[in-house]
Amino acid sequence: MVLLALATAAYTWVVKVVVDKAQNMDDGNAMASAKTYAIAILPILIGIPAISGISNYFQRILANKIALNSVAKMQKQMFVASHTADYASFSREPTGNRISKFVSDVSVISASLIRVLSNLIRDFLTVIFTIAAMLWQNWMLSLAMVIFAVAVWPIIAISKKMRGSAKDVQEHVGTITSELKESFGGARMIKTYGLEDHENTRLGNSFDERIRLFLKLVSEQARVDPILEVLGGLVIAAIVIFGVYQVSADLATPGSIAAVLTGIMILSPKLRALGTLNNVIQEGLSSLTRIFDVIDETPQVTEKAGAVDLDNPQGHVVLENVRFAYSDGTEALNGISIEAKPGEMIALVGESGGGKSTIINLIPRLYDVSSGKITVDGQDIRNLTFDSLRRSLALVSQDVTLFNDTVAHNIGLGDLSATRTQIEDAARAADAYDFIMALPQGFDTVIGEDGDTLSGGQKQRLAIARAILRNAPILLLDEATSALDAESEAKVQKAMETLGQGRTQIVIAHRLSTIKKADRIYVLEKGKVVETGTHSTLSKNNDGVYARLQTLQMEG
Ligand code: ADP
Repeated sequence: MVLLALATAAYTWVVKVVVDKAQNMDDGNAMASAKTYAIAILPILIGIPAISGISNYFQRILANKIALNSVAKMQKQMFVASHTADYASFSREPTGNRISKFVSDVSVISASLIRVLSNLIRDFLTVIFTIAAMLWQNWMLSLAMVIFAVAVWPIIAISKKMRGSAKDVQEHVGTITSELKESFGGARMIKTYGLEDHENTRLGNSFDERIRLFLKLVSEQARVDPILEVLGGLVIAAIVIFGVYQVSADLATPGSIAAVLTGIMILSPKLRALGTLNNVIQEGLSSLTRIFDVIDETPQVTEKAGAVDLDNPQGHVVLENVRFAYSDGTEALNGISIEAKPGEMIALVGESGGGKSTIINLIPRLYDVSSGKITVDGQDIRNLTFDSLRRSLALVSQDVTLFNDTVAHNIGLGDLSATRTQIEDAARAADAYDFIMALPQGFDTVIGEDGDTLSGGQKQRLAIARAILRNAPILLLDEATSALDAESEAKVQKAMETLGQGRTQIVIAHRLSTIKKADRIYVLEKGKVVETGTHSTLSKNNDGVYARLQTLQMEG
């Protein structure tokens, strides 16, 4: 790049020599003189493009390599940060928005990095060397370049605007990504409710909005070039007028005037290129800000320095006077005390919004209690390592999380070190073996996004097999059977019993029939425990909430 910049600036010198010599050329021997110059100048004229071509080749590969590596590093850091961040951050930012940062912002940054790496240094050096050459040739005339300085202020002002507009564009890409994700995810509802037109209009508006935002950015970017072009014209006019005066007053040679003009011809497009490069830089910076927002986010729920491992967990879970409010101020738990001794099954029941799911979320520390404490085997969970706490838990919930991968892989997520035999045993214990073997490729069948090719009960049993494989002493069961038909429910129920043997179970149940065997039932209302007891004691209390829920369900 340095060589290339120097060579470009050297054109001014070439022009000066040619013009001045041509003027003083010995008329009698024109051919011979021309030949001498041609021999002297040709290598330079051919050499410069050759250097340019070769250096461009290597520069392009190198620039891409650097940009791609930087961007991959950012993606990795952002991905790590996304999963290190508080669970709450996932409800704060729509998933599509977060995805667009990994795809769209990253490609903006990559493109702008490549441009910067390829052009910035080269163009900047060319400008510096050319200015130096011009000052060397005719410093007085070169002072006309000061006119370019006028452009600095408007460019700074436009840059600020551009960064804002680029941010709007990228945020909108996030919005579109979220809307697309929702729309395709809701395909079933959209078709059955005949909402295609509604969706077409909704997304159509979004696509149109993108045009508006993009044109706003482009109109700002487009302002830089004309400013520099007009100023370039003024500079040339000044040089021509003042140059003619200098030559007539014998203050300068025509060659030096030509050299300065050539310098301006080189300088003008380079300055304009730097101007448009600034556009790309502003776009890159705005995407970079969006990415660093994710990377720099400090989680609230963190592992304490000096956290200890939960060794040989027994599964004794206690909530002591736990209060919890979500960040929007919703008080979900108002002083809850519950206990599950090793091997016990406790059930949480009550109207929706009572706080049952919140309790389940607090135990793996998806959120931290606002006050009070939760202990496992007598240790405050905030003093335990994340890894050992979470290894002691298995969660089975109504909305089963399945990945678009094989059945074996999906079960194996319960314990990444499990062997194929262990996975198959877990499937047998979860009463899932037979239906898995009936799938086209058995355990190697890819089950589609979210397990779309399976029935609700089958998905549940895969989730149970995963939990069995995890072999954790504490089970968190969230409404696991409420959405199933009677036959599936019976199968899932049986699998649940196998899973529950010898483990502490904390169950959220809507159907009271599923928790008859619970050692203790906690009835929750508005974040408080209003009744505690077993199924038989609670059912006898006719004025109680539990008895009322039971009556409601029998009527239902
Ligand atoms: P349940 O499981 O008994 O139906 P939840 O624990 O889901 O009850 O909810 C308890 C309360 O917390 C409700 O008022 C609910 O609206 C609120 N809540 C639940 N999740 C969130 C959240 N992510 N942000 C804010 N409020 C929430």
